[in-house]
Amino acid sequence: MRGEGIVLRVRNMGEADRVVTIYTAHYGKIRAVARGARRVRNRLLSPTQVFTHGRYLVFPGKGLHTISQAEIVNSYQEFRDDLEKMAYASYITELLDSFTEEELPSQELFMLLIAAFSLGTHGRFALAARAFEVRLMQELGYAPQLHHCLGCGSAVQENLRFSPEGGVVCPRCAPRYRELLPLSNGTWELMKRLTEWDVSRFGILHPSPVALGELERIMRNYIDFRLDYPLKSLEFLETVKAMPKDGSD
Ligand SMILES: [Zn+2]
Repeated sequence: MRGEGIVLRVRNMGEADRVVTIYTAHYGKIRAVARGARRVRNRLLSPTQVFTHGRYLVFPGKGLHTISQAEIVNSYQEFRDDLEKMAYASYITELLDSFTEEELPSQELFMLLIAAFSLGTHGRFALAARAFEVRLMQELGYAPQLHHCLGCGSAVQENLRFSPEGGVVCPRCAPRYRELLPLSNGTWELMKRLTEWDVSRFGILHPSPVALGELERIMRNYIDFRLDYPLKSLEFLETVKAMPKDGSD
């Protein structure tokens, strides 16, 4: 197996090895051992760090595959140096890891991950996280219903609420639902763009903090509804976001 990928997760094995989970462009998520990768002068040391975008040559094995060669395309060093960026990148990679099986190829998910990391390098992880959530659910076949009411099927226009069960609910049907979340028109428009646009265009979106906050609550509920166990990175992200920032924002 040869090609590009991004390291989602790294765990140590034995004295100097690493087991690396990589989301590849052509094979989907793979797990492979990088022998000796924790030794200082090992050529696999840098390309097998978490969040690294690299080119990998992997020999298939019965249990674990083995990485034989690797080179860095983009190290994303800033995601490991900055606590908030690390928290966001950890959340995105854990989300992808949790929702995908090994060796089910998806070029779309790989491109989505690249797009989210690219937004992150421009200091736009808040948008990147929301875009990643919306688009990941869509690619996995859990696209929220945004154009027709979940209850009556009528085309919806405004005064909508959102049900974590799967989409928008019109004002007439709202009383029949429990746990509905607010959905302003701005947030609704943002969700539609995130589901319809090419991922490479997300950078031109500039949603208001209110819309991003509303979408965050919506997607948190929507994802938790479909997740078997809580995400470890989420608590870390919440803690980091709550920390006072010095000076700049
Ligand atoms: Zn309705």
